[in-house]
Amino acid sequence: MSNPTLLDLNSVVQHPGSSEEFRLQCPLALENRDIFLAAPAEVHLKVESTGKMLLLRGSAVIDCTVPCSRCTNNVPIKLDIEIDEEYGISGTPSSYGIGGFATIDSDEPFEIFKGNSLILSNLLYEELMVQLPHQSLCSGSWDIPCNTPEEKFLHLDTGEDSLLKGNTD
Ligand SMILES: [Zn+2]
Repeated sequence: MSNPTLLDLNSVVQHPGSSEEFRLQCPLALENRDIFLAAPAEVHLKVESTGKMLLLRGSAVIDCTVPCSRCTNNVPIKLDIEIDEEYGISGTPSSYGIGGFATIDSDEPFEIFKGNSLILSNLLYEELMVQLPHQSLCSGSWDIPCNTPEEKFLHLDTGEDSLLKGNTD
């Protein structure tokens, strides 16, 4: 079974100076998170090898919902994520014709590569976690009450609310 989110970058890795461009839609693995994708991420990615480094540059539009920081209602947000990453390359590229084979180094705690293939959904997930706003409110502002029936957040309408307000920057 082929995985549509696995991008084979071997040809770029073995040919320093070459690049490849991808435009595709990619689902994201979001298990155990309160984030839901409204649609697959729209990804534009350019992959380039300098011989020693693999450069990933591009962007992804992620249309998702996250829980409201006050009432946990789903809040739709659309994020334009920037991708700008570099990874080391070890070994001699096979295009040099001396029997070598170059591989991508990845010391990420989260698995981003499988051999010389990029696990795009994992890269996007990591970028999303970094670039996701810390707080999202269904009303759009701490000054405007949530769009939920009152009883759902009555227990928050105490000192806790002003405590949270001090934290908004
Ligand atoms: Zn809310």
